[in-house]
Amino acid sequence: MDQILLAERMAGVSQSATMALNARAKQLAADGKTIYNLTAGELASTTPDYIQKHVASTLHENKYTAVAGLPELREAIAAGARDFYGLDWIQAENVVVTAGVKPALYVALMALINPGDEVILPIPTWGSFANSIELCDGRAVKVPLTSDFDLDVAAVMAAITPKTKAILINSPQNPTGAIYSEKALRELADKLKGSGITILSDDIYSKLVYQEGFVPTPSCGFEHVIILNGFSKSQALTGWRIGYLIAPKNAADAIVSILSHTMTNAAVPSQQAGLAAADQGDQPPAETIALLKKQRQMVVDALSGLPGLDFQEPAGAFFFFLDVHKLAKTSAQWCEDLLVQTGVALVPGEAFSGPGYARLSFVTDESTLRAALDLIARFVKQEAKA
Ligand code: PMP
Repeated sequence: MDQILLAERMAGVSQSATMALNARAKQLAADGKTIYNLTAGELASTTPDYIQKHVASTLHENKYTAVAGLPELREAIAAGARDFYGLDWIQAENVVVTAGVKPALYVALMALINPGDEVILPIPTWGSFANSIELCDGRAVKVPLTSDFDLDVAAVMAAITPKTKAILINSPQNPTGAIYSEKALRELADKLKGSGITILSDDIYSKLVYQEGFVPTPSCGFEHVIILNGFSKSQALTGWRIGYLIAPKNAADAIVSILSHTMTNAAVPSQQAGLAAADQGDQPPAETIALLKKQRQMVVDALSGLPGLDFQEPAGAFFFFLDVHKLAKTSAQWCEDLLVQTGVALVPGEAFSGPGYARLSFVTDESTLRAALDLIARFVKQEAKA
């Protein structure tokens, strides 16, 4: 079969590096090597019981729903968000339910940007942000975070041009686990007044926070905000594909038009799963947070003080972004050596526009995490001696 002539935009789009690394780890496992996979972007727990029970009782439902989602789900999401963000403007008509946060991001960008428009993206960053912007014929303008992974307001402001349409903010952040300070966010909100620039706020990790002082981005006084959120991380529902966006009505209506011709409504059982979660305020189970805190501490204890390895404790999400620049020429090489020599899989920072770092996800079972941390510590000490 002859090759297909693809659209030019595909030149700027690549497959997820995390997925590629997972494939490499699986190959090594198939070859008989024991693999300790710390690349996961999802909780290890199964679907919470209360969600399973609720969905089981609704399985007879088989019809299209409204494109924007079940009215009772939109109501429940709006009520929860009004409370969480302290924003009175959020009503059911502002909520659009989608099949996960990725589609929410994509349709929001489709509704927002003209070809060549710029979206400012603080880096390090989750890889799908830049790829989604490119898919919508926009340009991702990458702006480094401060050295302690806070928003660099002066750098963001300096990157603004007449083509800047939006700024993509993700706090708590993938891959660093950092939360942006309220001070930086409020300063940015102040400086953006009158600019017409929209904040796209990916709040997927906003329910997984371990430190005081977290203020969600949309609560910091921005004039134009689209909130992207979902149940993937808070309720361990990654495979159910259920998320939503919250936008001023004109944007929500435009997005519903796009969905009406493309993805239609999110799957009904998944919306019901979302409804069960939203009805109880979308709080993660207490045991989930307790386990994450414990495993986060295990990483701190195991990796503190190792020669040449630095890190900042994550305030949220479930990642450490380890600074390995003193340990190898590139973080890709360091991760490859670590994988081949010890079987521990991390994601190199290059995948997040953060060379010199490696992302460690601590959401695996406790014994795997313990064994992997021992191996990393031994590897780092042994390399330091070599
Ligand atoms: N946003 C960020 C920042 C993420 O890290 C992820 C998952 N890796 C997603 C969105 C994807 O969410 P979903 O599975 O709901 O599409």
